[in-house]
Amino acid sequence: GSITVNDLADRMATPQTEIIKSLFFKGIATNVNQTLDLPTAKMVAEEFGIEVETTEEESEARKVTEMLDEADLENLHQRPPVVTIMGHVDHGKTSLLDYIRQAKVAQGEAGGITQHIGAYHVDLEQESGSRQIVFLDTPGHEAFTAMRARGARVTDIAILVVAADDGVRPQTIEAISHAKAAGVPIVVAINKIDKETAQPDRVKQELMEHNLVPEEWGGDTIMVPVSAITGESVDTLLEMLLLVSEVEDLHANPDRLARGTVIEAHLDKARGPVATLLVQNGTLNVGDAIVAGAVFGKVRAMIDDRGDRVESTLPSFAVEVLGLNDVPPAGEEFEVYADEKEARAAADARAVEQRQSRLQQAMASRRVTLNSLSAKAQEGDLKELNLVLKGDVQGSLEAILASLQQLPQDEVQIRVLMAAPGEITETDVDLAAASSAVIIGFNTTLAPGARQSADRLGVDIRDYEIIYKLLEDIEGAMEGLLDPEQ
Ligand code: GDP
Repeated sequence: GSITVNDLADRMATPQTEIIKSLFFKGIATNVNQTLDLPTAKMVAEEFGIEVETTEEESEARKVTEMLDEADLENLHQRPPVVTIMGHVDHGKTSLLDYIRQAKVAQGEAGGITQHIGAYHVDLEQESGSRQIVFLDTPGHEAFTAMRARGARVTDIAILVVAADDGVRPQTIEAISHAKAAGVPIVVAINKIDKETAQPDRVKQELMEHNLVPEEWGGDTIMVPVSAITGESVDTLLEMLLLVSEVEDLHANPDRLARGTVIEAHLDKARGPVATLLVQNGTLNVGDAIVAGAVFGKVRAMIDDRGDRVESTLPSFAVEVLGLNDVPPAGEEFEVYADEKEARAAADARAVEQRQSRLQQAMASRRVTLNSLSAKAQEGDLKELNLVLKGDVQGSLEAILASLQQLPQDEVQIRVLMAAPGEITETDVDLAAASSAVIIGFNTTLAPGARQSADRLGVDIRDYEIIYKLLEDIEGAMEGLLDPEQ
């Protein structure tokens, strides 16, 4: 389903320019004839305080995520949210993870020691019964986007930590871009409110500039002032996560063979390959025949985040698994097979496939380049042109964004996933790779490692010093006029 900006404006009884402006500030440059997909249209409408009725068809479609099959829809059960903590360095991500772990996990448990397996869960007593939240243990959007660059989607909700005495900083903005690009809802934790210099309202003001408007100011972003040191309002934050998870309608079918994602893995001298798996659908059992890419194994033992041996693991929970024949890469999907022979064959086939695709990649790269996008446009196959913009100063970025908005976009729509000042980093490359975007640098340089990373992931980085040249190339690509051979 889709709707044009024009029709949407009519139905919302709102001037078209207001809608175009709202989209523009989300990094989506449009014009009145442009069609919007339903989630985008809905987002716009809701921003203007207009309630959107969701038809049955759409909500069904939403449930069929990558991890759910059509058959699972018959037997869906609520599952806990999987949460990642992001934010600027030193704003308190680790402290918050540690506080929650200690306060919510250690209490009431003999020994009170949690294992660091890459994820842990907390139990919360609610009126409606016991509920859980699962936290991924590696904070930061770098880890989040590195996973996504490999095609994994594991996070249901992102906590954005912003220190109340420091405000919105470059990595805060990056984290927002990354969460938005992944379509993951954001809950803001305004941290360090125990400090005298804390200015939570200033933080809210700053976040508004990045389209996160607090609920109390008429927006739809939940913001909770907390202290990771004293623990103040951390309970409220957890409650809010449950609330968002309810809205997100998180479900899985526990009565089937498990599938999910490898969170991390390493080789242990004594125990052999050890992998932390996040079960995203089905139930994982000891004895299951499991395949993760080219890696195969029979689950010999499972150890949960409390260090206990367990026999089975339900959706949204992470568990350390022993019994694999090799160390699978983080971000790889895993799947359980009913038949061990079949599982082994699948892993072997995958190993051959991987060798071939590595070869293919080395020979003719499947890079997303501005030139290849141009070739696609010429075929009429290009609908969207995703860009990551890095520039010398905010001023030039704004000028570029304003000019991009002027380009005709009837055929191809420009999506600016991120526009930020600074050099081009490996994390930018990951974001581009995860979103099939081209990186556009304007009077900026590459951070160490960015070039190698771009070459490895097949990301096109274009450098410009003159705005009109930049615009000319982008317009050329949209019209299919760039030389595809370059
Ligand atoms: P990260 O880099 O985002 O993981 O930040 P850390 O968790 O390492 O915290 C950075 C510093 O801020 C540490 O010295 C923490 O003790 C301190 N810190 C974190 N949260 C709070 C808080 O709520 N209040 C105060 N006063 N200090 C905090």
